[in-house]
Amino acid sequence: MAKILIVEDEKAINDLVKFNLELVGHECHQVFDGEKGLEEALGLKYDLIILDVMLPKYSGFEIMEYIKGTPVIFVTAKTDSQDKIKGLRLGADDYITKPFNTVELVERVKAVLRRTKAEKNDFTFDGIRIEFENRRVYKDGKEVMLKPREFDLLEVLVSNRNIALTREKLLRLVWEYDYEGDTRTVDVHIQRIRQKLGISDRIQTVYKTGYRFEI
Ligand code: CA
Repeated sequence: MAKILIVEDEKAINDLVKFNLELVGHECHQVFDGEKGLEEALGLKYDLIILDVMLPKYSGFEIMEYIKGTPVIFVTAKTDSQDKIKGLRLGADDYITKPFNTVELVERVKAVLRRTKAEKNDFTFDGIRIEFENRRVYKDGKEVMLKPREFDLLEVLVSNRNIALTREKLLRLVWEYDYEGDTRTVDVHIQRIRQKLGISDRIQTVYKTGYRFEI
């Protein structure tokens, strides 16, 4: 079973995708425009994103520029092969063309999940290994104990690497609700991660904004 985000503005299609994926045991969350889609995608709560290309507010292609680490199958109504090439170049794992056969959809989802599960487990840099699946971090082979929120924050930063994230966004993504402006919480947690892992220069402070994991 996987947690799947469906970003599709045509309600009938969105419902059809949800219905078929839930039939085989997946848990689905539906959104109907690009803005909501991007917000949900950045939260890293999903194992897979089914992403329509033509969406209100942001297109699927625009959203894909920001998605790092979550597998994507995009859905295009166009028979235009340029769309498929563009999607794959942006890092999508697969695509399906509307109108699609629901059996094919389910099979493609299964294949992408199987393929990406193994790849998603580890991220290694500077002698540090992050195991996302079992939420452990090692430095030079020795485990470093991070608190749950510290791990969540590190995961968000690494998954959105080389992108500046505001303190407000980090609060929303990691703490999952809107803090009443107490962005100091983020600073404190960042300090702890830097100290525990010795990666001060990897987690850059972005002046007047927030933080960026640079690699
Ligand atoms: Ca659409």
